[in-house]
Amino acid sequence: MSNLFADVLIIGGGIAGTSVGASLASEIKVILVEAEEHLGFHSTGRSVAVYAPAYGSNIIRKLTSESSILFTRVEQKLSQPILSPRGFLFIGRKNQSQAMATLHEELSKLSSLTSMNLQEAQAMVPAIRSEYLEKALYDPEAKDIDVSSLHNYYINELRSYGGKLLLSQRVHEIKKTGSSYEVICNSIKINCKKIINASGAWADEIGQLAGCKKLDLKPLRRTAFSFQPDNWEYKDWPVVIDCEENFYIKPETGSIIGSPADEKVDIPRDVYAEEIDIAIGMDRIKAALNFKVHSVNSSWAGLRTFSPDREPAVGFDPQDESFFWLAGQGGYGIQTAPYLGRFAADLVLEKNIIPSSKEACLKSELDPSRFYTTK
Ligand SMILES: Cc1cc2nc3c(=O)[nH]c(=O)nc-3n(C[C@H](O)[C@H](O)[C@H](O)COP(=O)(O)OP(=O)(O)OC[C@H]3O[C@@H](n4cnc5c(N)ncnc54)[C@H](O)[C@@H]3O)c2cc1C
Repeated sequence: MSNLFADVLIIGGGIAGTSVGASLASEIKVILVEAEEHLGFHSTGRSVAVYAPAYGSNIIRKLTSESSILFTRVEQKLSQPILSPRGFLFIGRKNQSQAMATLHEELSKLSSLTSMNLQEAQAMVPAIRSEYLEKALYDPEAKDIDVSSLHNYYINELRSYGGKLLLSQRVHEIKKTGSSYEVICNSIKINCKKIINASGAWADEIGQLAGCKKLDLKPLRRTAFSFQPDNWEYKDWPVVIDCEENFYIKPETGSIIGSPADEKVDIPRDVYAEEIDIAIGMDRIKAALNFKVHSVNSSWAGLRTFSPDREPAVGFDPQDESFFWLAGQGGYGIQTAPYLGRFAADLVLEKNIIPSSKEACLKSELDPSRFYTTK
């Protein structure tokens, strides 16, 4: 078993681990270990790749909006777009008017948001059934994300600054001796000063290996499937999402991705789409949109991992100041990665944060110690 040393060991090669690694590698010696043979095998490779500033809680919306400028910087560095126009259309039936009013109130700070009636929504998405929709809210700022290019950008940045990325190296054991860790993987042993836990659905398991308390992260399974309705030209339509998130569709070139927006409690594993969830999704979609669909082309499922308050857990463990959590990004881990990766790196490097700045506020909002007080 070979022996390696790093200032920081990152566990997990999804968008979270690689984005923080890319920011750290120019400053300190970084090793990233990934259990799988390929990067992006779990949640990162299974997202529906939407950047939606109107989606999620207030904190998620803040993290998404802070990421916007950083997406632009990646695009400039690569001389290629990572985000491309899409739009986000929330739709509601008559009996959802209360939910729609609440959503409208929550999103009222978004200057780009427009309220639409049936005719306006149908002008954009003619497949919407007239008897279905009462009101819609449209945000033109939502974009498609080229997840693979973004992920590769972070991987290349990490490597170009001398960071090491090791595949097929599952972490099995973490021992703390004095102020450093000894971490046993499949065929290597790594000594490091700090650990970043970016292992997605496995984050509580990794925390426990390091002797930390569980944060009670819940991996929730979400189903997605693609199909081709043969009666519409849809490629330029926005994402259409139920105002209570009971389903959504995302048009792409050549097919539409649909989802029942399910959240089934699961365990950390390689998850698959179940027939029943695909059927439920298709039913809900067809109730709202006049689609002729003959078959489902492909389907998959992935885990969206949430903390107990559904906000990310980003910061050092309160009982082990060298163990850093970067977990619980739920259904927003791609759109928030540019900012969260940078922010996590600053915290790991213990950079000075000005009191009462927006960073100081986020630091306390995301601090994992909030889950320790009730235990
Ligand atoms: C269907 C679906 C749609 C989604 N759509 C969107 C969207 O449109 N926009 C958006 O922003 N987000 C979306 N998300 C959420 C997004 O995909 C996740 O928030 C994000 O990918 C989480 O990234 P991660 O790096 O934390 O996790 P992962 O990508 O799961 O990476 C964690 C890695 O840790 C590795 N690991 C685990 N245990 C070990 C170990 N012991 N040793 C070494 N490595 C280990 C795993 O193998 C894995 O590769 C969606 C998710 C799903 C499932």
